[in-house]
Amino acid sequence: MLTITLKPGKEKSLLRRHPWIFPTAIERIEGKPEEKNKPGTTAVVQSASGQFLARAAYSPKSQIRARVWSFNENEPIDHALIKRRIKKAIAYRMAMVKGSDAIRLIFGEADGFPGLVVDWYAGKQGHLVCQFQSAGVDAWKVPIVQALIAETGCPNVYERSDASVREREGLPLIIGTLAGNEPGDETPVTENGVRYAVDIKTGHKTGFYVDQRDNRRLVMEHAAGRDVLNCFCYTGGFSLAALKGDARSVISIDSSGEALAIGKRNVQLNGFDPAKAEWQDADVFKALRAFREQGKSFDLIVLDPPKFASSPDHVDRAARAYKDINLLGFQLLREGGLLFTYSCSGAISADLFQKIVAGAANDAKVDARILKRLSAGADHPMTTSFPEGEYLKGLMLHKA
Ligand code: SAH
Repeated sequence: MLTITLKPGKEKSLLRRHPWIFPTAIERIEGKPEEKNKPGTTAVVQSASGQFLARAAYSPKSQIRARVWSFNENEPIDHALIKRRIKKAIAYRMAMVKGSDAIRLIFGEADGFPGLVVDWYAGKQGHLVCQFQSAGVDAWKVPIVQALIAETGCPNVYERSDASVREREGLPLIIGTLAGNEPGDETPVTENGVRYAVDIKTGHKTGFYVDQRDNRRLVMEHAAGRDVLNCFCYTGGFSLAALKGDARSVISIDSSGEALAIGKRNVQLNGFDPAKAEWQDADVFKALRAFREQGKSFDLIVLDPPKFASSPDHVDRAARAYKDINLLGFQLLREGGLLFTYSCSGAISADLFQKIVAGAANDAKVDARILKRLSAGADHPMTTSFPEGEYLKGLMLHKA
């Protein structure tokens, strides 16, 4: 059995139920050589004085050297645990997520599966899409897939383990069918009464930004009669929500031609008036400056950029980029207009994000009201012991 003994005092974060163990906290690792070299081996973690702390998945190459499976000494890490946790995770979603068949079933640490993401699209005839992003869940892939199929009744499972974090774990990038049918090029889902085509095989992440469901609904509720600008639109998540909410016009900008092509098809799929929807293949930073020069303005603007800060080292540069687009957003917003602005950078706290947006409003000489603080939906739960799980934060603002 592999045993990880921590340095004196380094047990504190585990006693607060934080699930990550870094190399600097480790005094020694004992076990057979084959266990020490095998990513995903279950290890017992103990304090310097020999007190049991947790069972964790060992990852010899990763900067997160072990991720906790369980803090309970009496809980073995086995197939029954996998089944139990998947059942629980699904029951929670069924109770909490309304009005959509695009659901995050497993959200990593928050569901007791560090590094695992599972999204479920289009019900039993649709697909489960998995990302195994750590050695621990990768080692348990087969029982995880079996339990997912058994608990959902959906036989089709596709793997999108192509995120670069896999490389940091020393794991190869993998894309392909794990069970059942291969997905078609577009899997239709329905969210808040809007149909979206999801490209499971080559879209971003697992194909769709499920996390913005509630925020898209909020935009739908406020879009009526407004001229809407959706920046970083991907396949038109917020654009379609705005059209459903009777927006007067929607301009959507993204630098991915493939994403825009799906966005346009989504307009057809819903039978919305294509004349109301304009799609621009452009860099948002440049497009917003061009709009400013042309004197264009909008009643509702969405800014949902990609992760600008991929690590704490990039926070300053990311903060400047967030400030830049938010400043432009405030300048392009009409009086009485609404700005929905987001950051999905884990390294930027909600507090810092609000300060950046406040700085942008100040530079734009705009009096802005914060109407709501926004986050991901209930299927991306934040836990009290793992603040890293809170990556998406947003603000709904009103220009006075
Ligand atoms: N709001 C979307 C998700 C946005 S993801 C939804 O609800 O589905 C971020 C998007 O930003 C991606 O589609 C990516 O192609 C795009 N992107 C990244 N950098 C960009 C840039 N500089 N200009 C325009 N689009 C960009």
